[in-house]
Amino acid sequence: MTVTVRFAPSPTGRLHIGNVRTAVLNWLFARKHKGTFILRLDDTDRQRSTEAFAESIREDLTWLGLTWAREERQSRRTARYDEIAEQLKRAGRLYPCYETEEELDRRRKRQLARGAPPIYDRAALKLTDEERRKLEAEGRRPYWRFRLENTEPSDPLKPVPTLVDWVDLVRRDQSVDVGSLSDPVMIRTDGTYLYTFTSVIDDIDFGITHVIRGEDHVTNTGVQIQIFQALGAVPPTFGHHSLLVGADGQALSKRLGHLSVAGLRDAGFEPMAILSLAALLGTSEPVEPHQDLDELARLIDFDKISRAPARFDEAELKSINAHLLQHTPYEKVEDRLHAMGIAGGEAFWLAVRGNITYLADASEWWAVVSQPIDPVIEDESFCRRAADLLPEEPWDERTWSAWTSAISAETGRKGRTLFHPLRLALTGREQGPELKALLPLIGRERAAARLRGQAA
Ligand code: GLU
Repeated sequence: MTVTVRFAPSPTGRLHIGNVRTAVLNWLFARKHKGTFILRLDDTDRQRSTEAFAESIREDLTWLGLTWAREERQSRRTARYDEIAEQLKRAGRLYPCYETEEELDRRRKRQLARGAPPIYDRAALKLTDEERRKLEAEGRRPYWRFRLENTEPSDPLKPVPTLVDWVDLVRRDQSVDVGSLSDPVMIRTDGTYLYTFTSVIDDIDFGITHVIRGEDHVTNTGVQIQIFQALGAVPPTFGHHSLLVGADGQALSKRLGHLSVAGLRDAGFEPMAILSLAALLGTSEPVEPHQDLDELARLIDFDKISRAPARFDEAELKSINAHLLQHTPYEKVEDRLHAMGIAGGEAFWLAVRGNITYLADASEWWAVVSQPIDPVIEDESFCRRAADLLPEEPWDERTWSAWTSAISAETGRKGRTLFHPLRLALTGREQGPELKALLPLIGRERAAARLRGQAA
């Protein structure tokens, strides 16, 4: 059996760090099992789904490197859903209801007042053909509910506790009491389908072997397993991962635009920093950056995902990004550095990669080595002496220690009193990359001028 998974966002908004967690866990699972990863756009909500959001989802996944073998769209599958709906109507598993929202609401309030659970009372199942015709003649259009299997023969309308259980990849033994749920609506009065229904049909038709999604879908799973069974299909294996919460423990709101993939990209985060965090948060693995998806795929195991919510902290993402760049080889960033106008080659990258949070920060250091800066002269005569002692070029990483030993021998200075004024004069800054790597990039002419206090 080939593992086949799907990532099924609705194109009603941009992808968000929370969606990335679901997407990457699916992708890694497929990779690990040499399976197939399908992108499914859940666009049955015609009002809220847009082509622009569909395109942004493709762009974001592509940028993250989460490639898909196949794309499916629910909006193109209506004929198939109609066919299955007919089948379930004939079997009595989908039944028409006519109550308005207000009527349902009043009923729920009465139930609550009586101390009864506010679940749908299946009144529509008691309607005679005559009554149904009358309602339709009044202009009411039906919506359709899926009849859960949760009753006993003695009273086919009254739900009794009925556990639907499964072994979850993450949560192990799970069960949902479908006796405590209302028969879920599957088709709206305008004939459009709800995701709970269409998702099952797609999962069957596309041969989905594993449904990996957030734990906010656990209750849906109880219902969906019954839909699979009503259609004579064996349900797939389910895995419900914990959700990301903000540093304050609150659910991550979709309104936090900067936590969209596009927002994170614009802020300068690297795909692998985002993916490493999204996949490893709330697992027993240390949250560290990994250089590629294969490396992550080897690590990730559903047994390692904890059930507790995973705390997302932007500061942590920043430090992972910095840490990732610190270990990124030149070949991986060469083209991007060139595009930024940085011509320092590998030596420059190796010199600065440990001192940046975002790749864009490399520009700042490129300016320090290749453009005039205002040197900061702490001790004029010391710096002038240091300039005089600069060796002849060519320079390499050993030049620094030869030069500073010579200065030390002459001035008797050591440690900070030796290095700090040199750093200030050569870079204009208190801190930065190792000077032994920067010095050859700055070059003799510029270094000498800066040590003499000239903007160079
Ligand atoms: N469109 C659904 C969602 O985004 C998909 C859930 C699922 O994976 O089944 O919540």
